[in-house]
Amino acid sequence: MSAADILAYFQSLIPESISRLRELVEMESHSADKAAVDAIAAHLAALFENEGCRAEILSCPSRGNTLRASWRAGSKVVARPVLFLGHLDTVWPAGTISARPFRIENSRAFGPGVYDMKAGLLLSLLVSRALKEGKSSPGRDVFFLFTGDEEIGTAEGLPHLTQTARECAAVLCLEPPLAGGKAKTFRKGVGCFTIRVAGLSAHAGVEPEKGANAILEISRQVLRLHDLNDKGRGTTVTTGVIKGGTASNVVPAEAEAQVDVRVSSLEAGAAIEATIRGMQAFDPRCRLTVEGGLNRPPLERTPGVVELYHKARNAALELEMDLGEGSTGGGSDGSFTAAMGIPTLDGLGVEGGGAHAPDEYIEVGDIQRRAALLCRLLETIG
Ligand SMILES: [Zn+2]
Repeated sequence: MSAADILAYFQSLIPESISRLRELVEMESHSADKAAVDAIAAHLAALFENEGCRAEILSCPSRGNTLRASWRAGSKVVARPVLFLGHLDTVWPAGTISARPFRIENSRAFGPGVYDMKAGLLLSLLVSRALKEGKSSPGRDVFFLFTGDEEIGTAEGLPHLTQTARECAAVLCLEPPLAGGKAKTFRKGVGCFTIRVAGLSAHAGVEPEKGANAILEISRQVLRLHDLNDKGRGTTVTTGVIKGGTASNVVPAEAEAQVDVRVSSLEAGAAIEATIRGMQAFDPRCRLTVEGGLNRPPLERTPGVVELYHKARNAALELEMDLGEGSTGGGSDGSFTAAMGIPTLDGLGVEGGGAHAPDEYIEVGDIQRRAALLCRLLETIG
């Protein structure tokens, strides 16, 4: 099919696409609500089955289930599969939809999770429709995998993801693009640490010298952590939460800090993890414990990532789209597949804005272009 034909094909599916998008947004799926995420997984499984895919629910004990769908190109295929990757969960608690119902205004669709990433789920359904109807013939199997706990670190979805990704030649991640519709060819790695101090409590007026002030200790540690920021290396260290103490007249025995860490390479991640884990108390009467670590590796801009991006850019040019590339400090499930050494191109979702914000939206006019781009890219991955 020519680029113009595939675009016209998806254009003809726009009314159906909008009602499907509304349905997916209205099925709220907050990461903390396992029943809700499981429900959207089951619903999508049925939709993928309708499009001729085999769908499986990969269960997760305490978090939302993972959904995997596979489209088989035939028994003689030798090329390794391509994986479309995304997540079912959103950051929005149940009930957000009543406060901010799905709506379309000035050719933008608004609603909780529409941009991150219900529109990406819609794109995957559109691709599966095109595969079923022979509008795209990639000559290889195509997998779709959506985790149910991406927004909270993908702890339970990760084993399912790595097992499926292992056999794939490339991963196309349907997360929202950057501003201007740019694909993401680099993401920082993300870590989270909790540092706790156990000191000694004492009366603040009678015998303060007997106390070991945990708040003072954690404050000194926070300053030390702040000094680990390294702009040249791309490392950021942010203490986002600090807690401690019980009353103003008590030398506090307990305090803790929660720290966000972002790194540009696995090497920088290992170095900073070792530094934080090795921190010692300034006051020898205080005991310091460190929990946590790097929970998402960086998505590094490897030659494989760049090659995939160039293929996407060429496919976009045929559709008269100028697909830029850029980097972000946020992590995604694409970071895991990239760290496995699988070429991964991220940010291939529908253009929009306001991820994790109340004004979240997508550009309705971008849906057919993105679906067409994905189909063309599938055929040219090689
Ligand atoms: Zn996302």
